[in-house]
Amino acid sequence: MCRHLAYLGPALRLDDLLFDAPDSLERQAYAPQLMHGGGTINVDGYGVGWFPGPIRYRRAGPIWADANLRQLAMTTLSTAFLAAVRSATVGMPVVDPACAPFTDGTWLFSHNGRVSDWPESVAELARTVPVTDLLTMDAPVDSALLWTLVRRRLETGKNPADVLVELTKEVVAAAPASRLNFLMTNGSVIVGTTWTHSLWVLHDGESVTLASEPLDGDDAWREIPDNHVVVADPSTVEVRPI
Ligand code: GLN
Repeated sequence: MCRHLAYLGPALRLDDLLFDAPDSLERQAYAPQLMHGGGTINVDGYGVGWFPGPIRYRRAGPIWADANLRQLAMTTLSTAFLAAVRSATVGMPVVDPACAPFTDGTWLFSHNGRVSDWPESVAELARTVPVTDLLTMDAPVDSALLWTLVRRRLETGKNPADVLVELTKEVVAAAPASRLNFLMTNGSVIVGTTWTHSLWVLHDGESVTLASEPLDGDDAWREIPDNHVVVADPSTVEVRPI
């Protein structure tokens, strides 16, 4: 289980999301509330990206141990963020480049979950990727392979929600016990999926936040049902079954 979030709206300070909210991402690293799907704490790494850019910062280790990030977060203001804390799947390396967000310079991408029976289950799927992409993957982790598949499909100009839905179906066909909550943004729209883990949305017509767990006690947070895709920007939130 990892925890991730994305925000679009009026400019916000990064520390509001990472450290200051009552159930900030830092708190969700050591005391997540919604743990169905496995895992207990999210201390193997963290990452955040924001626009314009996107600029990305990611490190292995617990988010609270990074004094530099606190300073950075206090002075970083943006209208679009994506951030994650990581609980590494057993057998996957605990290194900086295994942490979300992954990026191609346009999109920021995060995966909460795991590919079951990794890596044998998705060997066929991996064969559809140019070998140079496999050789330059950020890290030998399931999330990085999924991102490699997503980024190539986005480049063909396909609708981003369709890309995530199609990939979810293909991975589940190959590796049925997989958990596939995706979250990505290009700074104008957020696209997310629910496939086993929780995802919540807070939308007030000016801003939208999607997060694995609500960041505060606001009763306007709504849970996205399982096996759904959500496309959100500050004015609209669309949710449909996968
Ligand atoms: N499988 C991914 C990893 O190891 C994501 C982990 C998670 O969601 N807990 O990084």
